[in-house]
Amino acid sequence: MTQPTDQPALAAKPCSKCGSPGEVTKSGSNRYWVQCAKFGRNGNCSAIGQQASSRKEAIRNWNAQH
Ligand SMILES: [Zn+2]
Repeated sequence: MTQPTDQPALAAKPCSKCGSPGEVTKSGSNRYWVQCAKFGRNGNCSAIGQQASSRKEAIRNWNAQH
């Protein structure tokens, strides 16, 4: 039997500009941000969230902007 997890489903919203999924990106040990799946080389969208020191915070930053 598997127990349901207590963790809230915190997920990045789709990009407000193009509708692509937001992708959580990590650099180093504690730098996280969310960027559009079509950001930069993957497409031509410029949507990117503010960096944060945790995944949760990065997703919040992105969701607040978008
Ligand atoms: Zn986008």
